[in-house]
Amino acid sequence: MVDEAKRCPVCLLELTSITWQDDAWGKMKCPRYGKFAMNGYLVQLLRRREKLTAAQLRSLPVLPAYIRSENQESRAPRLGHDWGA
Ligand SMILES: [Zn+2]
Repeated sequence: MVDEAKRCPVCLLELTSITWQDDAWGKMKCPRYGKFAMNGYLVQLLRRREKLTAAQLRSLPVLPAYIRSENQESRAPRLGHDWGA
């Protein structure tokens, strides 16, 4: 089992790197999909697949493709509470 503190909130594999910011944005690098930043509270919910809104659950399958395409443009997307909107 991967240590939860190192688990990718999107694919649940072990992250290549993770940096927590004071302002609660965590910067992560997923071994599959690349770099992104995510609100710390959302990371916890997503890792456990808990308390997600219907819109977030619908968006979950397309999140990897979104992160990957942003990375191809040399951007690391920031994912907040509105990411499923
Ligand atoms: Zn991942």
